Amino acid sequence: MHSFHYHQGNLLCEDVSLQALAKEHGTPLYVYSKATLVDHFTRLDQALAPLDHLICYAVKANSNLAVLGTLAKLGSGFDIVSAGELFRVIRAGGDPGRCTFAGVGKTAAEIRYALEQGIYCINAESAAELERINEVAGSLGLRAPVAVRVNPNVDAKTHAKITTGKSENKFGVDFEQIEALYAHIATLPNLRIRGVQMHIGSQLTSVEPFVEAVRKVAPLVAALHARHQLEFFSIGGGVGINYRQCLDSADAAWWEANAAAQHPLTLQAYADAVVPLLKPLGLRILCEPGRFMVGNAGALITEVLYEKSGKAKTFCIVDAGMNDLIRPTLYEGWHQIVPLAQSHEATRPCDVVGPICETGDYLAQDRALPPVKAGDFLAVLSAGAYGFSMASNYNTRPLPAEVLVDGNKASVVRQRQSLEDVLRGESLA
Ligand SMILES: *Cc1c(COP(=O)(O)O)cnc(C)c1O
Repeated sequence: MHSFHYHQGNLLCEDVSLQALAKEHGTPLYVYSKATLVDHFTRLDQALAPLDHLICYAVKANSNLAVLGTLAKLGSGFDIVSAGELFRVIRAGGDPGRCTFAGVGKTAAEIRYALEQGIYCINAESAAELERINEVAGSLGLRAPVAVRVNPNVDAKTHAKITTGKSENKFGVDFEQIEALYAHIATLPNLRIRGVQMHIGSQLTSVEPFVEAVRKVAPLVAALHARHQLEFFSIGGGVGINYRQCLDSADAAWWEANAAAQHPLTLQAYADAVVPLLKPLGLRILCEPGRFMVGNAGALITEVLYEKSGKAKTFCIVDAGMNDLIRPTLYEGWHQIVPLAQSHEATRPCDVVGPICETGDYLAQDRALPPVKAGDFLAVLSAGAYGFSMASNYNTRPLPAEVLVDGNKASVVRQRQSLEDVLRGESLA
């Protein structure tokens, strides 16, 4: 679901006017809906109910403390990729004992911190990393819980930059090397085998790659379980979201009629396909959704600064740039963009671009938009995942503020950076 709708010509997040938030807090501004977060967690939890399961939200998608805190209260675990993310989870009230630690390049210091905090499992991605974990655990006088990320070599059929389960990707250990590696782990004194992990990519829009990967890896997991007494199998994240939303109840019938085309992968289809394949393993199943949980829960609000019509194109120049939302230029990500004040005027094609000195600084290209003028606000929808968490200070632009909406209440959950904040720590030589 999502919680952005027009009401009397004005775009709301839940019951709060986005125009009012933009005026009060300035732009660019990230706004998140708590109701969407809760709904997505609850629906996934229910879909996996036939299995002994743990949802480990992938923190990198959106690591705001309020987002993490909301999910922690619902009982979520977390999948982290750095010591910093674990620090955030703990600060937000999350339980390290429900956290997994992913990534190909964990440092000894990060491994130490995670073990000291009582992490549920470190998901290792190479033999060399396992040696390092064994050393660090030995120096702490404990046994580190580990799993290995299997690279099943299946095509996730998603954008090349978010495919992770092919042999040529840097992630995981080749399927063919896994059994020998687990036999080796069993000889390392400071490691305890806890599970097996995989994650084949992000923004998957069909169920087939998930099925192919689970079908391929499940027999391996069963064999490893027989030998090493596993506790869990993690199937990773990757469930894709719909970047096109129905915003007006007047259009609901059309959206309903076109539901299959609009929703290429539903949560139900995903669960229906994977649950029966996983159930016979008799293991705890971990699931690591990032985008599914937060993507549709967020919007980036931006103000129109100028319009410029050239020989080839019309440019709508806004105050949010690729430093605030990098998905369009990094992944060719497509975001629906709509005015906060609903318009029924005829659209025309334009490029929505930011102020950054880069040709790649665009939020949309050749996009049909109704006429807008300076001072109007636009919402860049489905920006809750890999939005703020990838933002930077490029061009010495302060990071935007973030607001969490809950019903008719809105809380600033991260203040806009000041220029002093941006320069903190720097000095003349
Ligand atoms: C990024 C990542 C995820 C989350 O991916 P989504 O597509 O956002 O669901 C899950 N697991 C691992 C190991 C990841 O790196």
